[in-house]
Amino acid sequence: MFTIVIIIIIRRALTSNHNSFAGCCSRNFHIAKASSSSNFSSTFVTTTTTTTTNQRRSPSIARLRRQTVSSGQTSSSLTTMGNEATTSIVWFRKGLRIHDNPALSEALIDAKNFSGGDESKKVLPLFILDPWFCNEKSVGANRMNFLLQSLTNLNENMGSLLSIENVNDANNCLTVVQGKPKDVLPNVIKKFNVSSIYFEKEQVEPFGKQRDEEIIEMCKKLNVDVNTYASHTLYDQEFLLSKASAKGIPPSTMGAFQKVLANVGEPPSPVPEPPKNSLRVIPNAGDALSKEFKYANGIPTLEDLGYKAKSLSFKGGKGGETEGLRRMRGALCRGGDGYKYVQEFDKPQSSPCQLFAKEKGSGKALNPFEMAKKTSSSSPKEESLLWPSTTALSPHLKFGTVSVRQFYFELQDILKNELKGKHTNPPTSLMGQILWREFYYVNACGTPNYDKMVGNRICKQIKWKHDPENLAKWENAQTGFPWIDAAMTQLKEEGWMHHLARHAVACFLTRGDLFISWEEGARVFDRDLVDADWALNNGNWMWLSASSFFYQYFRVYGPHSFAKKYDKEGAYVKHFLPVLKDMPSKYVYEPWTAPLEVQKKAGCIVGVDYPKPMVDHAVASKQCMAWMNEAYAAGKEKKSGGEEKSNKKAKTK
Ligand SMILES: Cc1cc2nc3c(=O)[nH]c(=O)nc-3n(C[C@H](O)[C@H](O)[C@H](O)COP(=O)(O)OP(=O)(O)OC[C@H]3O[C@@H](n4cnc5c(N)ncnc54)[C@H](O)[C@@H]3O)c2cc1C
Repeated sequence: MFTIVIIIIIRRALTSNHNSFAGCCSRNFHIAKASSSSNFSSTFVTTTTTTTTNQRRSPSIARLRRQTVSSGQTSSSLTTMGNEATTSIVWFRKGLRIHDNPALSEALIDAKNFSGGDESKKVLPLFILDPWFCNEKSVGANRMNFLLQSLTNLNENMGSLLSIENVNDANNCLTVVQGKPKDVLPNVIKKFNVSSIYFEKEQVEPFGKQRDEEIIEMCKKLNVDVNTYASHTLYDQEFLLSKASAKGIPPSTMGAFQKVLANVGEPPSPVPEPPKNSLRVIPNAGDALSKEFKYANGIPTLEDLGYKAKSLSFKGGKGGETEGLRRMRGALCRGGDGYKYVQEFDKPQSSPCQLFAKEKGSGKALNPFEMAKKTSSSSPKEESLLWPSTTALSPHLKFGTVSVRQFYFELQDILKNELKGKHTNPPTSLMGQILWREFYYVNACGTPNYDKMVGNRICKQIKWKHDPENLAKWENAQTGFPWIDAAMTQLKEEGWMHHLARHAVACFLTRGDLFISWEEGARVFDRDLVDADWALNNGNWMWLSASSFFYQYFRVYGPHSFAKKYDKEGAYVKHFLPVLKDMPSKYVYEPWTAPLEVQKKAGCIVGVDYPKPMVDHAVASKQCMAWMNEAYAAGKEKKSGGEEKSNKKAKTK
């Protein structure tokens, strides 16, 4: 009996129709090869743990080997043998999209190419809500809401890929369950006869890297093929690191990084979206899991997850790739003025005080560019996008509802073909912003203990103060400096702040005024930002605290002077701190300097209705600079003591 089953499998494998998915398959491989002919394996497909890359190009062979191996090993594999139709899991974590999603595309290609008699392989798109982050202490309500919206939209968008036989499953393409991946996945694997799993590789976050390692080990034991892809960044970070590092150390300046990029060439192109009728799901998969796991029958609401947030007011639009692509394309043709926004984008000139607002003509290109035609902003009922001075694409890039490669190539097309090179340039241009993202990723990938000061090779060791009381004042927008408090209020209420507002509050907390560790600030941002991103958050905090990348600690942002340059009247402050709404503009950034009569008239007495400034900035910043000076000097001393020999060597080179 056993031999007969093996013979049947071999026959079917050999007679399988490899071209049944030709359109998608050939384009997919063509693009991957064309874009990175020299580095296909390192930039596109990153890991296949139980099959080799070559085996994956020929699914029937991969399957044959897999089943031959498993049939001799475990009793559960005998069940697999007896049941022709197996399942692939597409495990979504970030990358919540169907465009440029190599894991999803390859799973569908492999499933279609799989020859299982009359049955082709089914695919189970899965998202696991780890209880570790499903609570307000770890992830703020704005971000969780954005995630749930993104999952809802992913489910809808996958509906457009469903095979005809699955017409009734349009609302249940994505199975969402709550649990730890290491508990959920073995259960799902056994229940649905899973033979392969596809997911986007986590390349930087220690938590995710460890989780993935454990899952890969577990899959090996269960004879499940694991296919992972580096698609959250422009390049596979390990590939980039191998090209970008001097002795394993990533470039610490944008200039050095750009030189590396010039040598590695363009990133891989986005993979084509899977075609319609390509997704064959397991009907009612959620039902089968609902006894063991919460929320298997749909996508939970914030209330289901125990969130009690009253104010949910992220202004950058809904989560999900539909809205993300609309925002991305809206940004590329913003203002409807011949790509002027892209052409003139200059980050330091963008205002941290500009509130999210409607813009005339936003989202409509006067000069339609082929890719922008895809924008879905034509429906008159659709809400118009609200814009700050920058794109507010960060939550979409964080969750991968917009592919950074898609963004890169659509922007590149405009710069080259529409603007013909006449535009601002990195590092301050819009392309420059994409490169900053990549810069922090490669540094995060190549730096152990990147999110800590101790044990972090690139981080200055500074004796920050432990001061929970002052930290709480900063966190709760009670510093007495309206500009700082307004920005922290925006963070708390909306989950987003402009880059320069982040600069100001980060500088104030660390080297500017309070001398509290950047790790504390990063923790608050990590909880409250909709776009909280491990690599970007820790990297930027190191920069702002002059702990790494940037060392001019004597250049401090004035907590009452900086924002005046952008917003003389203080409209931003008055919006987020209504207690100051009637304060004359002259005093709005420094209300403590207003005569008592003026304060009374404005209905805001400093020390009663609004806090007095928690420090004297002139004194505090001077003291902070002295401490920074000491820390830098101590670091130099240590270095010259400990590395005397290697320094001598370096000089003689
Ligand atoms: C202390 C501090 C903490 C930060 N934490 C985060 C974070 O957790 N998540 C996050 O996405 N950004 C973070 N940033 C970077 C930056 O502030 C945001 O990416 C940006 O403000 C998001 O707005 P936007 O999408 O409109 O940016 P745009 O200016 O429109 O830029 C487009 C995209 O480029 C990338 N980008 C822009 N600036 C930077 C930068 N300085 N570093 C890296 N990538 C950049 C982002 O992906 C952004 O969405 C932090 C900055 C500071 C100073």
